[in-house]
Formats: sequence, C-alpha cells, structure tokens
Amino acid sequence: MEKQHPSRLRFNFGFLVEARIGTSRTIELDYPTIDVEDVRLSPLQGQLEVTRTSEGVYLAGTLHTVTAVDCVRCLGDAYVPLTVTLGELLYYPPWDAPAGELYIGEDGYIDLAPLIRELTLLEVPIQPICRPDCQGLCQVCGQNLNEGDCGCEDDDIDPRLAKLKELLDNE
Ligand SMILES: [Zn+2]
Ligand SMILES: [Zn+2]
Repeated sequence: MEKQHPSRLRFNFGFLVEARIGTSRTIELDYPTIDVEDVRLSPLQGQLEVTRTSEGVYLAGTLHTVTAVDCVRCLGDAYVPLTVTLGELLYYPPWDAPAGELYIGEDGYIDLAPLIRELTLLEVPIQPICRPDCQGLCQVCGQNLNEGDCGCEDDDIDPRLAKLKELLDNE
C-alpha cells in the first residue's frame, strides 16, 4: 500500500487543552489546493473557532471550498462550490470520548482531515452538472455535445415508444 502523506489538517491543540475552560482561538485556513485524503479541494478557506470546554474542545466554523466531481450529463469535471459548516465537540482526554466520537490525542494533536472530508462530501449535490447549459453526451455515438455537434440524427424518442413508432410507420 502506498504510504499516505502526513495530513496537512493535523492540528496541535495542546495549548488549548492546557488552558482554562472558555479559552478560545481562531484558526485561519487558506489553502490554494489541498488533498484531504482522496478528495482534492481547491481552494479550502475559512475560519475555525476552537474553544476549551469541560469535555474537550468545541470546534465551530464555516469553510468554503470547490471540488471537482463528475458531471452527470457529460461525465466531465464539474467544479462545485461548497460551504461546509462545522460544529463538533472534540473530546479530551481521549479516554473520555464515547465510542465513535472525535477526540484529541494524548499528545494534543488531532487530524481534522476525516471530518472535513466527510462533511465536504455530504454537501456535494446529488446531480452535479459542469454548467447549467451542459449539452451532455450524444445518445447515439457518445460524443460530448459541449465540444460540438456530432451530426447524429437527433431522434429524441423514448426507447419504450420506439416500438410503437415502428408499428405506426409501417401502417
Ligand atoms: Zn457536463
Ligand atoms: Zn452522435
């Protein structure tokens, strides 16, 4: 298996877990391009506010990003702008975290990549399109119609009705 690069979204909250309850800091994120595990985000920008609570650190903020996904019409790249809202309690110390919850390691570090990846993917529209007027692919030859007309006969008939058309044509 290929070795993963160290996550650029790994943060040291050691200073905060040592601080008094209520202490907070703002973290500025501004990456022109960042690979969050298998998802490329260009850019990833925004602010996160981290606050020491009795149970750990509360993380809140809004991130703005753009990611490329497949256009459902032409299968080309659709660059979709996404807004990701975070509101997560990161438990500390780690052994106080209920199963499945996020926690800050004993060393004060936490990698936010899995969380940001998950929240980003949740925002991706179900039917992304590369542009509002995407022409899609030709049903006959498969050409990307955004790149020009293929010359196929535009027989926009539902295959279920094709049989009926055939019968009517024969009359
Ligand atoms: Zn498209
Ligand atoms: Zn065609």
